[in-house]
Amino acid sequence: MKNVAKKSNTMDILQRYSLTASKKFGQNFLVDPNIIEKIVTSSDITKETAVIEIGPGIGALSEGLARKAGKLICYEIDERLKPVLKETLSEHENVTVIFQDFMKADLDQCVKDLSKDYKDICVVTNLPYYITSDIIMKVLKSRSSINRMIAMVQKEVALKFTSDEKSPMSVMIDYVGNISYVMTVSKNVFMPAPHVDSAVIRINKERNLEDSFIEVVEGAFKQKRKTILNNMKALFDHPQDVLDACHIDAKKRAQELTLEDYCALAQERKRV
Ligand code: SAM
Repeated sequence: MKNVAKKSNTMDILQRYSLTASKKFGQNFLVDPNIIEKIVTSSDITKETAVIEIGPGIGALSEGLARKAGKLICYEIDERLKPVLKETLSEHENVTVIFQDFMKADLDQCVKDLSKDYKDICVVTNLPYYITSDIIMKVLKSRSSINRMIAMVQKEVALKFTSDEKSPMSVMIDYVGNISYVMTVSKNVFMPAPHVDSAVIRINKERNLEDSFIEVVEGAFKQKRKTILNNMKALFDHPQDVLDACHIDAKKRAQELTLEDYCALAQERKRV
């Protein structure tokens, strides 16, 4: 057992490989085995689970995930970490590390391949903050059998995502399943310590998004201050007729629409 997340071990690894955390890639390494344990436990992983981790860093969280999961696939953008991960994850034969920008990865193909052997697939990640929303959106939009995503994000972002505030992401999460706030994580358990605290969120995904739904939600929020009538002009030739058919007040703004309104608009969009 390597226990990468023990502070002295992380320091030793960074020193031996002459590594400094890259700001560009949002590197803040977790140095608290208890937090790793809590994230792994809250992810409900068994040997029948295949886990996709985005950004393994030097392998602190990966170690905990690899111990519990049947299979672990890690996507890491920073090629400097190749020799480090080779060492820190050497004991775990169920791990594959792919050195690639996750935003360019063929996620659906990856999940399709994993589905042949695993009936439960989830994403667990301590997210690089510069790209949090893009990564969550990519997982949400994926047409694959990912069941849940457990992600560490900035605390204020976690609070926003789990509040009643409407955004394209919150509407999409409502459609696919639900989101919950798992726990707050102090900035002091990272190396280097970021300026703000973090939090773990969990998104349960029970169904996939459809193109028509994504189009109407993104279209509705395109210019948040405009009415839904104005924003729907880009999607429909006769937006007023469509809104009437869906019983939606044309003067409303995107954040005032309900999930049912968006589903009705998506049905209309399918007919176009
Ligand atoms: N999982 C490690 C931990 O908990 O200590 C590291 C987390 S660190 C906050 C984020 C990690 O994501 C870094 O290793 C960084 O290099 C990686 N990363 C950043 N952008 C990425 C991208 N687009 N695709 C894949 N990995 C990325």
